[in-house]
Amino acid sequence: MKLRLSEEDAAFREEMRTFFTTQVPQSIRDTVAARRELTKDQIVETQQILNAAGLAVPNWPVEWGGKDWTPLQRHIWHEEMQLASVPAPLAFNASMVGPVIAAFGSQEVKERFLPATANLDIWWSQGFSEPDAGSDLASLRTVARREGDEYVVNGQKTWTTLGQYGDWIFTLVRTDPDAPKKQQGISFLLIDMTSPGLTVRPIELIDGGHEVNEVFFEDVRVPAENLVGEENRGWDYAKFLLGNERVGVAPVGSTKRWLAAAKELAGDRIAGDPVLATRVAGLENELLALELTALRVVAHSADGKPHPASSVLKLRGTELQQAVTELYVDLAGPLSLASGAGDGSGVPDWARVSTPQYLNFRKASIYGGSNEVQRQIIAKTILGL
Ligand SMILES: Cc1cc2nc3c(=O)[nH]c(=O)nc-3n(C[C@H](O)[C@H](O)[C@H](O)COP(=O)(O)OP(=O)(O)OC[C@H]3O[C@@H](n4cnc5c(N)ncnc54)[C@H](O)[C@@H]3O)c2cc1C
Repeated sequence: MKLRLSEEDAAFREEMRTFFTTQVPQSIRDTVAARRELTKDQIVETQQILNAAGLAVPNWPVEWGGKDWTPLQRHIWHEEMQLASVPAPLAFNASMVGPVIAAFGSQEVKERFLPATANLDIWWSQGFSEPDAGSDLASLRTVARREGDEYVVNGQKTWTTLGQYGDWIFTLVRTDPDAPKKQQGISFLLIDMTSPGLTVRPIELIDGGHEVNEVFFEDVRVPAENLVGEENRGWDYAKFLLGNERVGVAPVGSTKRWLAAAKELAGDRIAGDPVLATRVAGLENELLALELTALRVVAHSADGKPHPASSVLKLRGTELQQAVTELYVDLAGPLSLASGAGDGSGVPDWARVSTPQYLNFRKASIYGGSNEVQRQIIAKTILGL
């Protein structure tokens, strides 16, 4: 395996680095670097800057704003974005619903939604999970009954991330309750979140934040033209989407940045504390190994299809991300308890946010398919067990 980038790829990396570090407002990058919550406006502004430069949806077909990049270039784009503390394009739009519409939607649906989705003029939410239908997603019970030119939707979704900002929600709904297999009666339906009968209710999380929601549907009427692809084929589209979802969830670049910042905060303590030094060096090595694995995976992904090893990236990437959040708590020591302290407090910012972030990032091993389920996929599809 060749470990050095070609001249062309090195120039591409430079081009991305320059763009991200000069074109995205410093205030937004500072918010990300300080690991503080971004506002909706900051996320929209960033995506619109990227989209204007053709850098928001490189994974889409070229006719809809994608780039004819190699998987390695896409990887470099993503990594440089993370290293520069630039918020990634909203995953629900850029890596989830957009590629599904581009691959399976009618021409009309593509024209109606894709440009607005790339530019974040529409903020999408993901309405897949339900109570009792998370890992076992095909057990979902939200029903869409066809009545003339409309579907009438009833049911409940849960864990809808940033649903409070959502304009539209892409959902999996049961359109044939009598199908012989539960996977066969599911459709992929786009729903306007301002529709009468749709309610979003916040879920308060352990860190005190509010980033997930429950969404309720009571006789919500949805025009039949909002169906993506064919009725009852939604499971195929969902599998396509979930494969893409997993590729982006190994945040090597941002974890590297966090770890480097932690090392700076630790300063002289590292030299005087062999246990801490070993821990930091261990994390650096593991991240390097993950980075090389990610490069091997991108080098071998055929036809833009997700490689089954994306499950390894998801699993290891989230474990390391969590390990770094734990390191911050330990570095902060007793100061990590001061998460409620106000802005005027003498406790440094990074120490105040360390515990809420440690707690918040427990989510990473659950979303995008839980890590236990990733282990099952690795056992079956890679190890052949
Ligand atoms: C912060 C956060 C944000 C999310 N955002 C969204 C969103 O925007 N939209 C959306 O649709 N969903 C979202 N989800 C839902 C997420 O996809 C599910 O939580 C996830 O798929 C797990 O499902 P579950 O919570 O029902 O747990 P369950 O499936 O009930 O699992 C419970 C436990 O059993 C284990 N388990 C289950 N099946 C197996 C198996 N076959 N083998 C081994 N172990 C197993 C799991 O790993 C887990 O530890 C989000 C979740 C979180 C935590």
